[in-house]
Amino acid sequence: MSSEDVPAGTGIHISGLSKTFRSGRRSVQALDAVDLHTKEGAFLSLLGPSGCGKSTILRILAGLDTPSAGTATINGETPEELRRRHEFGIAFQDSALLPWRSVEANIKLPLQVAGLPADPKLIADLIALVGLEGFEKAKPAQLSGGMRQRVSIARALVVKPKILLLDEPFGALDDMTRQRLNLELLRIWTEKPATTLMVTHGIAEAVFLSDVVAVMSPRPGRVVEVVEIDLPRPRTPEMMRTPEFHKLHDYLSELLFGRSGHGGVVTE
Ligand code: ADP
Ligand code: MG
Repeated sequence: MSSEDVPAGTGIHISGLSKTFRSGRRSVQALDAVDLHTKEGAFLSLLGPSGCGKSTILRILAGLDTPSAGTATINGETPEELRRRHEFGIAFQDSALLPWRSVEANIKLPLQVAGLPADPKLIADLIALVGLEGFEKAKPAQLSGGMRQRVSIARALVVKPKILLLDEPFGALDDMTRQRLNLELLRIWTEKPATTLMVTHGIAEAVFLSDVVAVMSPRPGRVVEVVEIDLPRPRTPEMMRTPEFHKLHDYLSELLFGRSGHGGVVTE
């Protein structure tokens, strides 16, 4: 997709984004002139090997880090503005729940941080949405890894974010749990569509969930290609067995690993 297709001011707009980390005399160029544009409400995935700068892009969009050059806006606003207004829902690979707080109290946390009231019905609805009824008072240690990630997704949704930033939300889970949670994420996203950026290194989940997949190469992180996923919505698990799905999967796999393992962006 070219930037001309996208009306200015909506969706994610990243232009000429570069980031160099310096510590003492050492410096690491994490991103080099990254351009990415999506429409409002689109689901964008960043796909690439470890160290290619995916999390750095997400952190810059979240207003948690600043670029060395270039700009990032979402729906026409800067990350700082959006952060101040609590427009982001963010979930990381490690669910990062507070161990002494119950499921319910963890989900409420972003509202408390923002100084907003927690409507009990909203909290109950979110708990139902992620399938954790009956576990409201449970502590994180009493939950499985998959359940903890579902709590962190519910917590990301509690501010009713217009923008959802997900950094390998199910990366630490086994394949079966991960597939199940991807289905749930798809259902949740369909019910509450938000402009979404998901970082992943799973090709199948990127194809299954996304409108657009950006493939990145490491050192320095660059966007190699932006691939539109033109599979129809609503998406169903059966689609993962269609020739169209396999074609997209193979194409992305080739970009990442090359033909017969040579010439892709993954070199080690
Ligand atoms: P990814 O999420 O794709 O695995 P990251 O965005 O985490 O990649 O990191 C990209 C590169 O930037 C890596 O080489 C990483 O070591 C480096 N990096 C990330 N954060 C920092 C930091 N705070 N200080 C120094 N180097 C960093
Ligand atoms: Mg990362």
